[in-house]
Amino acid sequence: MKIAIDGPVGAGKSSISDAVAQALGILHLDTGAMYRAVGLTCLRRGINIDDEQAVTALSRTLPIDVRYENGGQRTIADGEDVTAFIRTPEVSDAASRVGTYEGVRKAMVAAQQAIAARTDMLVDGRDIGTVVLPDADVKIYLTASAEERARRRWLQQKESGQDADYDQVLRELIARDHHDMNREHDPLRQAEDAVLVDTTDLDFDQSVEAILRLVWEAKA
Ligand code: C5P
Repeated sequence: MKIAIDGPVGAGKSSISDAVAQALGILHLDTGAMYRAVGLTCLRRGINIDDEQAVTALSRTLPIDVRYENGGQRTIADGEDVTAFIRTPEVSDAASRVGTYEGVRKAMVAAQQAIAARTDMLVDGRDIGTVVLPDADVKIYLTASAEERARRRWLQQKESGQDADYDQVLRELIARDHHDMNREHDPLRQAEDAVLVDTTDLDFDQSVEAILRLVWEAKA
């Protein structure tokens, strides 16, 4: 079984996908982590993110893989577990920029398809239903209003002790949405056969349940 979940930043894709995959007893591939691994490696090696050729060359030769430990994904770049280093704002920005390059996307899509071919998987990202797994058994487009997504992110940052400003979080989120939806190659969009799940008025458990219901319906 293959499940594709796409959607904009802050829709809760990662945590909801984790819970759904766990309930179904299958693995969850977070594809954003792979773009993040490329972005992190550029920063570490001093590769200029604006240099499309250099970034593309890196993405073609950098071995990126995932492992699972206690049910959680570990992201491995060039043999090193980089999971702890890929969630900083600098790496988020770098990931989103390297993801605009066609060659980088081709390399990541091929790696993701190879990983997903190994076993039953729930794969989340921006182009899973449209490009990576066009034949997925279930396709979901998970979203919520920009204000609600910003509110959740802002709360998360505050809870983790960061000095967060809601208006700034909202501005950055809208900028990233715009970037992901308007890039030339594989922009974020809802696949024609994907089901829209809007979590603006749903809590976490209700969101997980809504997706599980769709999976069970598809299996029936
Ligand atoms: O999902 P996450 O925020 O970790 O993704 C980081 C960046 O990687 C996103 O801003 C997006 O531009 C890019 N990405 C992508 N295609 C995917 C997953 C992520 O372009 N399938």
